[in-house]
Amino acid sequence: MELISTEFRCNNRCVFCAQDGLPAEKFSKDEQDLIAKAKAACQKDSTIAFVGGEPTLHEGLIPAVSAAKAFGAAYVLIQTNGRRLAYSSFTQNLKNAGADALDISLQGSTGDMHDYHTQTPGSWAQTILGIKHARKAGFRVGISTVITRSNFRHLSEIAHLVHRLGAEAFHLSLAMPYGRAGKSWARVIPLAEMARPHLTEALNLSKSLGLKTELGHAFSETTSPLFAGIGPYQRGELETASHSKKSGDASYARPKPGLRERRGPPKTGTKLKELFPEIFTGADIPGGKP
Ligand code: SF4
Repeated sequence: MELISTEFRCNNRCVFCAQDGLPAEKFSKDEQDLIAKAKAACQKDSTIAFVGGEPTLHEGLIPAVSAAKAFGAAYVLIQTNGRRLAYSSFTQNLKNAGADALDISLQGSTGDMHDYHTQTPGSWAQTILGIKHARKAGFRVGISTVITRSNFRHLSEIAHLVHRLGAEAFHLSLAMPYGRAGKSWARVIPLAEMARPHLTEALNLSKSLGLKTELGHAFSETTSPLFAGIGPYQRGELETASHSKKSGDASYARPKPGLRERRGPPKTGTKLKELFPEIFTGADIPGGKP
């Protein structure tokens, strides 16, 4: 598979975005330049993946997809936040140009949860509509979710939504301490040991729903080399970062008012008991009762 980077610009501002701070001017916005890149990447029967930033913001994307197909690409995939797909004519034009599959990012099972992650009010509604348009246009659709402190307890709900939306694959990866997540990792990156039970439940559910399920980063030795996040990851790095709180650490900074996470009702004692039975049995206290 050949990756074609379109640009670092994006119309979302995800709290975990590894590309925050990368130079937007690195990429040409010129349509002909993107077409030339697509042609250069093509070989007969090759698979081409357009990645960003947000590839759908590049006005040369549709002609570049056409060019890739004309120059022998057998399969064209686009990684996207799905917002521009809310415009059905754009989605249909992308399909008519020959694109086959879309890897769409979805960060929550509700609008509040997703929009908190993207820091972009209204983005969930556009992405959900975009997924519907993509399915209607005949695209193969996979959904990618980045696991954060704010969605790890809801991964099974997201898996149900992915299934209901008619996607065929569900891809999960852990937020990494790079870019925007690197600046505020303490409120973005969950402790692996807390996330793991929810992740296991979501993976089992996802498979039972018939979704092709893929796991990237930290939890797996078989991390997908594609669409699993950007930047190298060394095992152990996350655990070190997560346990070294320093006072005044900028990573604990709160998001701006209006962009803060909206929390649901507090967990009941019964729910807490299900999640952390050892707290109630005393099994986590050597020789003791709670
Ligand atoms: S993670 Fe993806 S969708 Fe979110 S801001 Fe970065 S490039 Fe955009």
